[in-house]
Amino acid sequence: MFDKVLIANRGEIALRIHRACKEMGIQTVAIHSTADSDAMHVRLADEAVCIGPPAPKDSYLNMAAILSAANITGADAVHPGVGFLAENADFAEMVEEHGHVFIGPTPEHIRIMGDKIAAKEKAREIGIPVVPGSDGGIETDAEAIAVAKEVGFPLIVKAAAGGGGRGMKVAESMDRLPEALSLCRSEAKAAFGDDAVYLERYLGHPRHIEVQILADGQGNCIHLGERDCSLQRRHQKVVEEAPSPALNEEERNRIGKTVTDALAKMNYRSAGTVEFLYEDGEFFFIEMNTRLQVEHPISEMICGIDLVREQIRVATGAALPITQEDIKFNGHAIECRITAEDPDTFAPSPGRITDYHAPGGLGVRVDSHLYSGYSIPPYYDSLVSKLIVHGNTRNECLMRLRRALEEYVIGGIKTTIPLHERIIIEQAFINGDYDIHWLERWMGLK
Ligand code: ADP
Repeated sequence: MFDKVLIANRGEIALRIHRACKEMGIQTVAIHSTADSDAMHVRLADEAVCIGPPAPKDSYLNMAAILSAANITGADAVHPGVGFLAENADFAEMVEEHGHVFIGPTPEHIRIMGDKIAAKEKAREIGIPVVPGSDGGIETDAEAIAVAKEVGFPLIVKAAAGGGGRGMKVAESMDRLPEALSLCRSEAKAAFGDDAVYLERYLGHPRHIEVQILADGQGNCIHLGERDCSLQRRHQKVVEEAPSPALNEEERNRIGKTVTDALAKMNYRSAGTVEFLYEDGEFFFIEMNTRLQVEHPISEMICGIDLVREQIRVATGAALPITQEDIKFNGHAIECRITAEDPDTFAPSPGRITDYHAPGGLGVRVDSHLYSGYSIPPYYDSLVSKLIVHGNTRNECLMRLRRALEEYVIGGIKTTIPLHERIIIEQAFINGDYDIHWLERWMGLK
């Protein structure tokens, strides 16, 4: 087992990883920018190294500085967390070249899945159903028109390097296609430095359903069921639940088996998530994330498995200690992503937390780095807390979530708690009857 792990991230996820390490008797090294000297992960870690000024490119994305911190502190391994360098294959490679273990998949697998065109090709090759569209990238308008004639409208133009809900344009008809292509290309070039794009059928009323997997790089792969992340704003997840109210057991087992068979064939290692759109009983692959995901706790809550702990274990070279038969799904879990934003306008609301009181009680988990007196810096992601609630039934979970949101006090800044309170009492949400467009329609944005 490792003696010391460097956590190459910040915020709630850095704290989440610290907690898993401590429970395994592992020492932690925090890294931080000058804006994060007072952050909770820095306070709790055994050692902390300042790696640069506030701008992410100078600190949390500064590979040389992070590697130096790992060398100086003698860390055995590096956990990249979520975001920043978590899906950067070059970083994973450099970590290993410098003699540390990268807690994640191989650089090769990160690279393939990080390019959406290559990922779709790989998915098809290993037996995962994909959204109909272009086979690979689209170079010219003529090529796009040929694909459109075959697949039909509406179509979505997507950037190969896209992420975080950016780099997507819908074309409703043939005459709008060239414009969507050139807009997507120029946006992708500006945001990701890569203008490769591809085409997909635009599904009208799908749900976003993703399968959580865990694998050991030795041919063993299990799944922890699915998460329903259909409640989105601007293609970004707002509320997630597990299991999905839309799937039955047969569908759950079927998609779970398709995914685990495919990834075992690939010899995948570590945690990963395969994302699908689900419409009229059919699953269509959209992408794979080769890292932990923000919403991983809801799967942990219904399976009783600590995903970070298992990531660390398999990174030491250990085989998975459990098989699919050992996974028992228990009850229902929902996560609300609470951000430091105005709940109506979504204007950022960084600043000092004057009062802080987190909800508690049976089945309530709060993954947050906030504390009373903490100042949220304006430079980073607005996610400040994840409220995760578990119940024996979905209804129990909903009632518990209501009372937990009611108890939650985050004073001094605006947060999206009031928005969550409104969403979860809506009849469509209570009925589990929503698709990826529901939230924006309900908010009057569509
Ligand atoms: P990102 O990497 O930016 O998260 P994804 O490919 O995972 O991009 O897509 C994010 C979201 O965009 C999906 O959850 C869904 O809401 C929407 N989306 C993506 N592809 C399609 C499609 N073919 N049809 C309809 N909606 C789509």
